[in-house]
Amino acid sequence: MATESFVLRVLDVVEETAEAHSIVFEVPDGLADRFSYTPGQFLTVAVPSDRTGLAARCYSLSSAPHSGLHRITVKRTPDGYASNWICDNLRVGDTLRVLPPSGIFTPRDLDADLLLFAGGSGITPVMSITRTALEKGHGNVVLFYANRDSSSVVFAGELAALSREYADRLVVVHWLESVQGLPSQDQLKAFATYFSGFTAFVCGPAPFMRAVVGSLKELGFPRDRRHQEKFVSLGGNPFGDIEEMRAAAMTLAEADDHDDDDNDGHSLAAGPGRGRAGG
Ligand SMILES: Cc1cc2nc3c(=O)[nH]c(=O)nc-3n(C[C@H](O)[C@H](O)[C@H](O)COP(=O)(O)OP(=O)(O)OC[C@H]3O[C@@H](n4cnc5c(N)ncnc54)[C@H](O)[C@@H]3O)c2cc1C
Repeated sequence: MATESFVLRVLDVVEETAEAHSIVFEVPDGLADRFSYTPGQFLTVAVPSDRTGLAARCYSLSSAPHSGLHRITVKRTPDGYASNWICDNLRVGDTLRVLPPSGIFTPRDLDADLLLFAGGSGITPVMSITRTALEKGHGNVVLFYANRDSSSVVFAGELAALSREYADRLVVVHWLESVQGLPSQDQLKAFATYFSGFTAFVCGPAPFMRAVVGSLKELGFPRDRRHQEKFVSLGGNPFGDIEEMRAAAMTLAEADDHDDDDNDGHSLAAGPGRGRAGG
């Protein structure tokens, strides 16, 4: 059965790096409860597609809940459909159909000491957890962040600012494949051994996750202190009947036509995401 979805307007688009765009959604007051979230949770968006009607994809919220923002950060997947569509097409004022926040990759205790591992786009839920733990909790946060090279580091500035502000509680270690090569399980284990009492969160490409989780297991991290989020594309369509959505989108597109001149949004092809905020 389809979950109730909502059409949200894009409030801001930020080019974080050449390959990653952050999208900030406007959540109307009436939907604030429905869209409340915990750090590490994700939204599911319906990207319009001429081929299939829509492509449903999950994107972690990279903002911290207490910021009041709903920001996702999408990194281009080579030859990927939805990630490239979002980075190429989405502009301020456009709309997308979105499912409310979901997910269990979230710290139970914000005061716990956290050992965070992020690879590439895996930083998005980890960024939300980092900021929330620092600003709302009291524990220490250690972040191991692996990227291809310095130009692909998303949130480098935000992390540098947090490191300065929370110098006594936050340690960020950047690992660049261009400098150090891929991190091996032994190297990750050597790093994690200093934080064996921390609660670990891991998100990134499959080989990175395997190496990190392998190292944590070797160090005896119990299951309840080892959390991982896998970034995969959804196969199914959690948005319900596509024809119904197409018809709804056409109606909403017509209703929207009259104020196209008044906003700075550009027109998307008629599809599931075109319309006003609402159920
Ligand atoms: C919980 C969760 C959180 C995630 N968070 C993030 C995040 O924060 N940031 C991030 O970048 N990624 C995140 N992801 C991954 C994200 O959901 C996508 O898997 C990723 O963006 C790749 O999607 P893609 O469509 O670009 O690539 P692919 O899924 O590889 O796209 C290729 C697929 O699209 C199909 N396709 C090609 N053309 C079309 C078309 N015209 N219409 C319809 N289908 C077509 C192809 O047949 C193929 O199946 C997350 C995933 C999960 C599960």
